[in-house]
Amino acid sequence: MNMKERFIKALKGEEVDKVPVVSVTQTAIVELMDKTGAAWPEAHSDAQKMADLAMASYTECGLEGVRAPYCLTVLAEAMGCTVNMGTKNRQPSVTDHPYPKGVENLQMPENLLAQGRIPVVLEAMKIIRAKLGDDVPLIAGMEGPVTLASDLASVKKFMKWSIKDQEAFQTILDFSCDACIQYANALVEAGADVISVPDPVASPDLLAPETFGTILKPVLQRFADGVNAPMILHVCGDVSPILEMMADCHFASISIEEKVKDLAAAKTKVAGKVTICGNVSSPFTLLSGDEAKVKADSKKALENGVDVLAPGCGIAPDTKCSNIRAMVTARDEFSA
Ligand SMILES: [Zn+2]
Repeated sequence: MNMKERFIKALKGEEVDKVPVVSVTQTAIVELMDKTGAAWPEAHSDAQKMADLAMASYTECGLEGVRAPYCLTVLAEAMGCTVNMGTKNRQPSVTDHPYPKGVENLQMPENLLAQGRIPVVLEAMKIIRAKLGDDVPLIAGMEGPVTLASDLASVKKFMKWSIKDQEAFQTILDFSCDACIQYANALVEAGADVISVPDPVASPDLLAPETFGTILKPVLQRFADGVNAPMILHVCGDVSPILEMMADCHFASISIEEKVKDLAAAKTKVAGKVTICGNVSSPFTLLSGDEAKVKADSKKALENGVDVLAPGCGIAPDTKCSNIRAMVTARDEFSA
């Protein structure tokens, strides 16, 4: 069983010889930027640098998969958002929004896949696939339709519409979903095996769980149904109130943070529907813990039945490579 077969089987809940260790969320760290010469912010806009930095988490840290890109702004930018590209250790962020006034003038960019940094990401997928062959899984990351919609409208307006103008809320979500489907399928065509979809704005910290069930879930289902690859849904925060609804979104797997305190109970709740990736704390264990803590938390996640051992959320850029490697060591010791 090669790494790619193992990862895809584990995502689908099929039997594997050992639990794979990957990051389905942000992977780049400053240590690898220095080692590869491919640093942020340039690696967000240069296909070769994007590919080099992504592959280093496999070659240097031992993660059993490669993931790119490193932000949740590629599609938002292609659709008209203004993006601040950040710094060497700060991710890009959306600073201005094309549709804060309303949804009357929503317009899908002509030739969406040629806009902004989309060609760069597609090229990076091809470079990685050509370099690594077919045995290592390639995970493409992209913002989900809920986060994209809030970027297009501005978070403030999006939240307001969720309560006071459900028609506008639904319209911008549908518009975002159409774009997500198109972009995700292009990533698959460029070589991605799996699409990982962080959708932080869908968190119960920001939108009511009832809204997730009635409005967001059908949008996420349509997204998953429209893409020709297994997908992973990541929602930030304590998603306990929406866990069962997340399991119904037609994704193969869900990625959860350590804020979901009882992983074993979460596994039981979603059994037979989705698998679970996670949930080693990115800020409190991988960034600020030592290797012993990384190993202890990793083994705890494995004991509680995690299907894919992974950071709970995006890896902080100042995280040490040795701490990421310690997750792999922990899995090896656990399997032995
Ligand atoms: Zn998260």
